Amino acid sequence: MSIATEEQTVVDSVPKELLIGGGWREASGGEHFAVEDPATGETLCEIADATPDDARAALDAAVAAQAEWAATAPNERGEILWRTFEALRDRSDELALLMTLEMGKAVAESKAEIAYAAEFFRWFSGEALRIDGYYKTAGNAQSRVLVMRQPVGPCFFITPWNFPTAMGTRKIGPAIAAGCTMVWKPAQLTPLSALALAKLLEEAGLPPGVLNVITSSSSGSVAEPVISDPRLRKLSFTGSTEVGRKLIAQSAEGVLRVSMELGGNAPFLIFDDADIDAALEGAMIAKMRNIGEACTSANRFHVAAPLADEFAERLAERMGEMKVGRGTEEGVEVGPLIDENQRSKVAELVEDAIGKGAKAVVGGNRLDGAGYFFEPTVLGGVPDDARVLREEIFGPVAPVASFSSEEEAIAAANDTEYGLVAYVFTRDLRRALRVCEGLETGMIGLNQGMVSNAGAPFGGVKASGIGREGGNEGIAEYLETKYVAVNL
Ligand code: NAP
Repeated sequence: MSIATEEQTVVDSVPKELLIGGGWREASGGEHFAVEDPATGETLCEIADATPDDARAALDAAVAAQAEWAATAPNERGEILWRTFEALRDRSDELALLMTLEMGKAVAESKAEIAYAAEFFRWFSGEALRIDGYYKTAGNAQSRVLVMRQPVGPCFFITPWNFPTAMGTRKIGPAIAAGCTMVWKPAQLTPLSALALAKLLEEAGLPPGVLNVITSSSSGSVAEPVISDPRLRKLSFTGSTEVGRKLIAQSAEGVLRVSMELGGNAPFLIFDDADIDAALEGAMIAKMRNIGEACTSANRFHVAAPLADEFAERLAERMGEMKVGRGTEEGVEVGPLIDENQRSKVAELVEDAIGKGAKAVVGGNRLDGAGYFFEPTVLGGVPDDARVLREEIFGPVAPVASFSSEEEAIAAANDTEYGLVAYVFTRDLRRALRVCEGLETGMIGLNQGMVSNAGAPFGGVKASGIGREGGNEGIAEYLETKYVAVNL
């Protein structure tokens, strides 16, 4: 098969309609919107554009399926997740190609995301069997305390474009395990991976109405009627802090349970006792994974003053060697940014830093031609007031600043409204623990550049969010605790 035919085949294999109550259907207004390849700017296909009525219909279907789904055997829920885990693994080549076409990252990175996404189904297939409660004698010995955990009920998921499959499985996995039904609105820039995942779940035996998917070009207007509906029990959102704030405000009216996985501004700290080779490897992953378009991306490097110049130069050498291009091409490591808005924002942050005295050690520019490419960039000597140290970059730009004491490093790391993740490189155990205790983040990569792991609680503090996905904590987000006072 030629490359163009192979690409067309994977795009054609995806349903282009809404999934509501087990049926694939056109949007009620008959409208469609285009899905674009960010490497070329060309349209890949058109898909159904849901209306607020479709969103209500999706919630109706989730509500109608809830009671029966909650009563399903945990074994059955676990097996559906396990079968889908296997399908994701077996079909990772085609799913990765599809993801690269709509999101841009290199196929090898898309494959890594499919593997990561699948891990949440493996993990939660086991969790379905571990939902427990307890029974105990009350202090006065006269009554008994019986505690049971039950599914929260119908959930609404809104997810971003940067990890189109994994941001879905992190929510769908625990919801299926717990016995909750769902409405999912994926990002309009990357809906195909979501539709492909919904089809795999359907093929694995997920009953009609348990997962409903609405794709839309007007997220606010389809989300509002779902969030304001008193039958909805939970909203789980992954995306920017700005939108998260609005959704929390909307959810307040119905006192809705919320999980919020929001933006980050991850500091990457390198102390003078660090293994600099290991720090460099960690930096490459923390900065360049997903083209720097990850909430966990290292947003700013704070390096002990004696090492700062050497580190910036060595990082620039590595980043400057990376092959930039369409993610489907052999050897490409850095794909395009998601769209022109994102590229303009990255360019603006670089210009601002250079205007305030930073120096581009490598890169610094957009690439001419089709697609939204930006050069891997290292900025040295970045001053404190540069916007690039304060705002989420979401691109392949590494600002390097220096510090002269441990206290100064911790203070700089915490000087942000965000608190998702931090990276710390040091060989001194006592310092490592002191710094980890001092950092105001939900996660820390200690001498490693990646924290994502289905078996660990992912999430942030401060403006980076509320709640955790994955780990032992993950399923609790989908369970209510009910206490029965028993009179013996
Ligand atoms: P975004 O603009 O906040 O969009 C995220 C999702 O929200 C999309 O599906 C979007 O729909 C939808 N949305 C936007 N406005 C809405 C509204 N008024 N009502 C309801 N839904 C609305 O974020 P993004 O640019 O896609 O993603 C990047 C952000 O996500 C970054 O800040 C990143 O840090 C964060 N993120 C966080 C995590 C985490 O786990 N903490 C993981 C990944 C990403 P449209 O597609 O139609 O705009």
